[in-house]
This record gives sequence, structure tokens and C-alpha cells, in this order.
Amino acid sequence: MSGSFETLQDLSLARGTLDRAGLRRREPNLLPLLLKDPLTRILELVEGRAQVIESDRDFALFLRAPAEQDEFRLSVFLGQDGHGTAYLGVVGDAKDLSGTAPWRTLREVGVLLSDRDAGMFVTLQGLANWHASHTHCPSCGARTEPDQAGWIRRCTRDGTEHYPRTDPAVIMAVTDASDRLLLARSPHWPEGRLSVVAGFVEPGESLEAAVAREVFEEVGVVVEEVRYLGNQPWPFPSSLMVGFTGRAVDTTLRLDQEEIAEAMWVSREDLREMVGAGSFGISPTVSIARRMIEHWYGGPIDRGVTT
Ligand SMILES: [Zn+2]
Repeated sequence: MSGSFETLQDLSLARGTLDRAGLRRREPNLLPLLLKDPLTRILELVEGRAQVIESDRDFALFLRAPAEQDEFRLSVFLGQDGHGTAYLGVVGDAKDLSGTAPWRTLREVGVLLSDRDAGMFVTLQGLANWHASHTHCPSCGARTEPDQAGWIRRCTRDGTEHYPRTDPAVIMAVTDASDRLLLARSPHWPEGRLSVVAGFVEPGESLEAAVAREVFEEVGVVVEEVRYLGNQPWPFPSSLMVGFTGRAVDTTLRLDQEEIAEAMWVSREDLREMVGAGSFGISPTVSIARRMIEHWYGGPIDRGVTT
């Protein structure tokens, strides 16, 4: 999809380096065997938080050897590194929120972690969300249970296999003929918080068609020249955000009031002034939205903004 134009590189949540070693997931008893191996590294997730060690502005996930209680928890095989070390994710509950290192969310540390750690956190967060919301079979309603090292759930009655979901969403930096950027505010956001528009891809729709439809539905603008810009997983709870640029045919905004509280065209100068005045809340650095806005702006936007 990328063609000859520039795409966004090194997006915070698209940096994983572990070999997922997907073929190993079918090895009999892979998880119990790895949980008996003291060399296995365990990443524990509790209510969307993992323990993070900070030293000299260096941020790393706290990984540990398997513990006895892990065999009673949801565990998933995250992959292995070049030395053959296996990495498992386990999901604990609130009573497990203890230990010396602070528990941090992916939104808080996704930008700060190493490539390997960011990738592990994103994968475990996405899988944990999926397991938590797919406890029953969509065919017959019976209970499902994890199988294949945490990468499927199987129905306990009819044996059907159910796979982790990823929901594609498009997000678009739409510009007009003067290269002003379209920013909008969701009714759920506070005053001043603005971002590029986004929406879910519908059945039967290409990514590019979803871009055009969403922009037209939300702000009444026809877009053309839709071009791919980059993508990253966004496991809140299960999206893959696919970024695009698009050119507005005209600039008249007709808002869908249920989806968009306000929308506007901003020049780089406008944005600089809004940031300087502290009247602009921008998407966090971990998001593709932030990277898309900065891509258009031509550099980091780091004053008067929330991170
Ligand atoms: Zn079933």
C-alpha cells in the first residue's frame, strides 16, 4: 500500500520485535512446560497495567520467572527472542496489584518502552481484552476455554474454534486546498481537545471507502486522493488504526451532531497559536492521531499539550 510517498515509521505501538513463533502454539502442553522452566520470562497484566522499572529515564517492563500461581491464571505464549528465551503473558486480578515496581498502563508507557517491551505489552493487552469479552460461544452460547497457548478459545460443547478479533478503524488527516488540517472534537471530549477524524470499517468496505464515508458522514466533506500513511494496533479494546491522508473537495462543514461536537480547518499558524495559548488539547503521543497531526505540522507539538 505504501507506494513512493512517505509513510509514518516507528509508531509507538507497532515496534514489536519478538518472534511470535506461531507454529509452536500447537505444541502439546506448551504453556505448562514453559511455566515449569525457570528461564521463561513472565509479563503480568492486571487490570490493564504492567509493572514498569524506571532507571535513569530508561523504562523497562518488569519480567520475572514463572510462579506457582501462574498455572491457575490465563496465560498466553507471546513468543521468543533470538536466544530462544520464551515470553509468556499472564493475567492477574486486582489482588495481585502489589510488588515494588509501579503498575503502569500501555497509554502511559507505550512511547517510553523498548521496541520488544512495547510489542509485548500491546499483544498481551489485546489478547487479555479479547479473552475477557469472549467467554461464551457465539454459535451455541456454551462456555469457551483458551487453547493453543492462549491464541484461540474453544467451545466446551461443540468444539468450535474462535480467534482473537482485531477491528480495523480508519483515521484520516484531511487537508484543504490551502493545506489546512481538519480537526474535530467528539462530544465525549472536553472543550479544546481536538483530533483528526476516525471511524470503524464496515463489512463490505475497503479502507479507502471507509475514509471517504466516515469523513462525509461526520463533517459532510467529500474527500479524494486518499493515501495510506501508516498503521498501529490500538488495543482499547481491539482496534487496528490505519492512517490515511485525504484532500477535501470543498471546505463547508456540515456536522453530524451526535458524532462531532465541533470541527474546524486549522493552518499551522492557527495550531501554533492555539498551542501557545494553552487552548488546545491534543491526542497523546502514544496515538497515531498525534503522529499524523505532527506529520502534517512538520515537527513535534510539545507545548501546552497533554501527553
Ligand atoms: Zn458452541
